[in-house]
Amino acid sequence: MDLVEKVEEIIRRLKKLYPEPKLELEFENSFQLLVMSIMAAQESDRKVNQTAKELFTELKEPAHFALLEVEDLARRISRVRWNYQKAEWIIKCCQSLVENYGGKVPDEVDELVKLPGVGRKTANMVVGGAFGRPAIIADRHFIRVANRLGLTKEKTPEKVEKDLASKIPPEYWLDLSLLLIEHGKKVCKAKNPLCEEKCPLTDLCECYQKTKCSEVRTKKN
Ligand code: SF4
Repeated sequence: MDLVEKVEEIIRRLKKLYPEPKLELEFENSFQLLVMSIMAAQESDRKVNQTAKELFTELKEPAHFALLEVEDLARRISRVRWNYQKAEWIIKCCQSLVENYGGKVPDEVDELVKLPGVGRKTANMVVGGAFGRPAIIADRHFIRVANRLGLTKEKTPEKVEKDLASKIPPEYWLDLSLLLIEHGKKVCKAKNPLCEEKCPLTDLCECYQKTKCSEVRTKKN
């Protein structure tokens, strides 16, 4: 089985487990997802969802954010880690959206990464999550599961994206991203993955086939 066939099989099996995979961030439009993705660095989706709900009741578009002081926005998003840094990024990002994109979120990764605070992972999340276009969303769950399965040996979002984009046809990128992220959260956890208990991919998984993933299990297991 070559890599593309393996990806097809992984997608086929995981779709049975997760028929409608989607991001856990609860957004209504591409702009909300962009702001939330910036807030989500090193933060739980649950906290970002809570924070965003309050934030977007008053502030609805880039122009509203572009006029804020960093202190003000940092206070509004104080629940999330690095709130000052993220507030600064969000404001600068919104100023750029207003000045350069007519207040609209671009739907291309190469344009999104020109915005302050937006790296390739965030850009791919917006392109895939909000616009439904081919995107490899290499968050920490995706990177972990893709490595265990043997789809890549790269460890950083940029390198993982580049590596997989060169080997897998674009029509599989988004499905594979959403499914591996969901699988990583629910089954293929960082410590003590539920291989025998819940995973339908043991026969396709390099980590399981080589060592039964012994190196990521705590002693009591
Ligand atoms: S077999 Fe284990 S390590 Fe491999 S993908 Fe499944 S849960 Fe993850």
